[in-house]
Amino acid sequence: MLTQTGPRSMGSLPRGRHRVTFHRMTDASFPDDGSGYPRDLRGYGATPPDPQWPGGAKLALSFVLNYEEGGENTVLNGDKGSELYLHEVPGGSPVIGERNRSVETQFDYGARAGVWRVMRLFAQQGFHFTVYGVGRALELNPPVARAFAEAGHEVASHAWRWIDYHSMDEAQEAAEIVRCVETIERLTGTRPVGWYTGRFSPRTRRLVARHGGFLYDSDSYDDDLPHYVQVEGKPVLVIPYTLDNNDMKFAVPPGFGDPDGFERHLRDAFDLLLEEGRAGSPKMMSVGLHCRLVGRPGRARALQRFLAHVAAHRDEVWVTTRAAIARHWWQHHPPA
Ligand SMILES: [Zn+2]
Repeated sequence: MLTQTGPRSMGSLPRGRHRVTFHRMTDASFPDDGSGYPRDLRGYGATPPDPQWPGGAKLALSFVLNYEEGGENTVLNGDKGSELYLHEVPGGSPVIGERNRSVETQFDYGARAGVWRVMRLFAQQGFHFTVYGVGRALELNPPVARAFAEAGHEVASHAWRWIDYHSMDEAQEAAEIVRCVETIERLTGTRPVGWYTGRFSPRTRRLVARHGGFLYDSDSYDDDLPHYVQVEGKPVLVIPYTLDNNDMKFAVPPGFGDPDGFERHLRDAFDLLLEEGRAGSPKMMSVGLHCRLVGRPGRARALQRFLAHVAAHRDEVWVTTRAAIARHWWQHHPPA
């Protein structure tokens, strides 16, 4: 049984203040637009809109730092076994029924050392990023949550746990959305306005929209520009994320074998999109980072070089948070 979560006080947010009525949900497709084939394969097509980025920028660049450490699979969180994904040894199988201290300490590194190194590199260039914050992970490291807020970074919701939500019971998933939002607000002083689960369920987008109070949903990889989808008759702004400009590919085969490859991939994506922007069709670029992966010094060096490359183009590029991009889009490209 779902309970009314009620209207949220969200100040000037364009949505989330309406009364929310819950219906008993049936099996949900993603996104369910009633067309019989609920995928948009056409998008903006050959003529994407001019995003009119602030200051005439030719590219909007959004760095995302995933903060997940401690929220992954472990018997300490009541899970069946140890974490399988995004650490130094891809493949293999989880240890069932007991702790895997090798994997745990690889995650611990991100929370203890990696996060601070990444923050220093961004501070050196004066760039802000969006944190995809796993609620459980932030709860286990409040000083990091405070540091994100004090440095002016955006902390968005990366779900309560860093797990696969595909088969989670609907009521539990709805409750975990509430818990994640409340935890981030308590730890950072600001309500999150962005959502990204990652391994989302067929129900996630609808549950997030029903919860309300969000400016954007990033559970999508489908475009170089934000766009709207309809969820139960209301517009939801999708800000697509990326799994290619992403240090996760150091930990999945076939991925980046060395930091130079990672840096070159980011630089090529950046340069090509910047060219498109100069030619009259500005885009948005996302870069995904993880404290335990790019926070390791050998990879951090490559990130440092890429940040310097970006800084050399400061006059043409809007380096910003996803919340700022979302506010720009709602204001300058309101839903039809
Ligand atoms: Zn993530």
